[in-house]
Amino acid sequence: MKKYRLIVTDLDGVVWRGGKPLKQNIMALNQLIARDIKIKYLTNNATKSRPEYVEILRKLGLQASIDDVITSAYAATRWIREQGGRFVFIVGEAGLYYEAVANGLIPVSQDMIADHVIVGLDRHVTYSKVKVASRMISRGAVFVVANTDSTLPVEDGLDPGAGSIVEMIVRATGRKPDFNAGKPNTWILDLAIKSTNKEEVLVIGDRLDTDIALGNRAGVDTLLVLTGTSKPDELESSPYMPTYVAKDLYSFINDYPELFG
Ligand SMILES: [Mg+2]
Repeated sequence: MKKYRLIVTDLDGVVWRGGKPLKQNIMALNQLIARDIKIKYLTNNATKSRPEYVEILRKLGLQASIDDVITSAYAATRWIREQGGRFVFIVGEAGLYYEAVANGLIPVSQDMIADHVIVGLDRHVTYSKVKVASRMISRGAVFVVANTDSTLPVEDGLDPGAGSIVEMIVRATGRKPDFNAGKPNTWILDLAIKSTNKEEVLVIGDRLDTDIALGNRAGVDTLLVLTGTSKPDELESSPYMPTYVAKDLYSFINDYPELFG
């Protein structure tokens, strides 16, 4: 009988949607925590740091520690650290700066030569920053991106995502990113799973092309919840197939209580 011990869940579209808490899903996560299921939160959003997410989750009634949160900013800076990187030029927001320093990297200004350039969503991006990043990459810096999501869902529509900024640099340099730290690349999931047996892991998300693609690539079971971006009619034409689909997490765990201890 299949049982899951670790849940790796997306945030936007599962825990909240555009700033609004998704109460059914939050209630379900707390029920799972009460059954001793470990929960890790995984997001491609690199604008906030892990401690910031811990605060947000606590305010929503979910007890989490810094180790329970994996962001693409954390994944990118961990990867650079493991490559022996040291000086990084950042196109991004607070989350990337925090994680760079927390992982022993040194964010540098345009006057220094960086060994790695990290690009994430930067809602204050300027021509000058894109120019410096492009020059450094052209001179040999490794080109790392937090994610390649072309858009960012917000309350009243879609804004340009990190991928749209990445594309400017790709066009300017003629170089593709050397490493994408975000979903659906499995590196970020490996950081969450660590030594847990993959058979005991369930990935939960609201997007077929990131969350479900991630699980499929990693060979881990997935649950698509219909509380966010992807709609049921997209399943027919999707190359990525979830193991389960549910309208929300609460109904799922009540339909399949045997899957969770
Ligand atoms: Mg999502």
